[in-house]
Amino acid sequence: MSNIDQLRNRIDEITLEMIKLLQSRIEIAKEIGEIKKNLGKGITDETREENLRSKVISVCNEIGLDDSIGTKLLNFLLNESVKVQSTKNQTHLTIFLKAKTLEEQGKNIIHMEVGEPDFQPPTEVKNALEQVYDQGFIKYGQAKGLPQFRAALAKKTAETYGISIDKEKILVSPGARFSVFLAISTLLTPGDEIIVIEPAWPAYKDCTLNAGVKLRAIKTTLENEWEPNMDEIKNAINSNTKMIVLNYPNNPTGKILPTKIQDDIIQLAIKNDLYVLSDEIYSQYCYKDWKSVLLYNYKKSIVTQSFSKSHAMTGFRIGYAIANPEIIDKMAKLQALSLTNVSEPIQFVALQALKADTSNNSNIMKSRLDSLTEKAKEIGLEFVKPDGSMYLFAKVKKDGFDGTKFANDLLEHGLAVAPGEGFGDYRDFIRISACQDKKKLMEGMAILDTILRSKD
Ligand code: PMP
Repeated sequence: MSNIDQLRNRIDEITLEMIKLLQSRIEIAKEIGEIKKNLGKGITDETREENLRSKVISVCNEIGLDDSIGTKLLNFLLNESVKVQSTKNQTHLTIFLKAKTLEEQGKNIIHMEVGEPDFQPPTEVKNALEQVYDQGFIKYGQAKGLPQFRAALAKKTAETYGISIDKEKILVSPGARFSVFLAISTLLTPGDEIIVIEPAWPAYKDCTLNAGVKLRAIKTTLENEWEPNMDEIKNAINSNTKMIVLNYPNNPTGKILPTKIQDDIIQLAIKNDLYVLSDEIYSQYCYKDWKSVLLYNYKKSIVTQSFSKSHAMTGFRIGYAIANPEIIDKMAKLQALSLTNVSEPIQFVALQALKADTSNNSNIMKSRLDSLTEKAKEIGLEFVKPDGSMYLFAKVKKDGFDGTKFANDLLEHGLAVAPGEGFGDYRDFIRISACQDKKKLMEGMAILDTILRSKD
């Protein structure tokens, strides 16, 4: 046998051996998963992972393997364990779908689980829907979006934040969700790491796992007013870390970071050359000072925005990303590949919606949140008063309280709320959304109170 054939055979053998070892590893991970479930433990144990990571790095050094390859393989293996151990957490969407089924059976449900403003979109939207056919915005278009729409978004952004920005920094996407997906999928590669501050909107984690990227969750607590610890963030950064996600005003906590903490995080990101993905779709719902990440003028920031919450246009599926042109180009490539372009009629409608004054939406939401928080205090829920967004993230102080079970019980009594575990390791929390009129919200809180008391 020639030398190359022998070597190739050896490579095959090693590869097959690795596959068998992978199978053994997955089987053991499943067993561990069962034990963790019985113990009520979360899936990821950061300390154990960190220990293993150190061991991998020292073995790499011993044998002369580049440790960035070794740790990327480790991240792949860790993600496979996460996948086999994941029992599907119930999220606000699970409850929403159950509520819909109950409604089909004739039951009345008060929806305090979804983040969907109950307002109508502005009348500009209605008029634009009537005009769009004759206006001829009905064909294929550019992957990055209609040039005049991108220009209008750039102008609006420039005016809002007092910065200079042109349309080359804008990518129109079907909702902010798709921009988040594009950013994570195109800027990161498998084995890279991303830092997400929890509690967090579940899609960051889902997009991360989907891209083969390793999630580093920084847990925050009600007791610390949902402020992340800078040392924890610093310690989570290593050579594979490529991005940090910010979402302020936050879903689900309503938190707006103190400027100093946000400044420090951005400085840390700059120092470590990390992308900053800042999901700012609740920026119109701020009840105290808030600073957009755009104001740092950081070349590796990606800001996502949407018409879903500001203009109550959830069903239109329209949002956008703001970033440097090199980043926009990468994201646009995947957008072109997957959907050609965002629907032209919808872009036209959103362009007209930009003319509307929607500032009153935020006043209404603030006043509803005020009523909600008052009531929540009265019935003994624990929470930090939201600084922004549309939600109250509240802890129920009862031994063994399970937010998921509670959310399912509430459904039977005509109220839908979101279980805390959809946002991370927050089983004793529920998220209450203020997307109904005050009368409905108070009816909902009365149901919540009655059912809570019945469990005393
Ligand atoms: N980001 C956050 C933080 C959200 O809460 C949501 C929707 N609930 C989205 C993005 C998705 O927005 P869109 O409808 O624009 O996709």
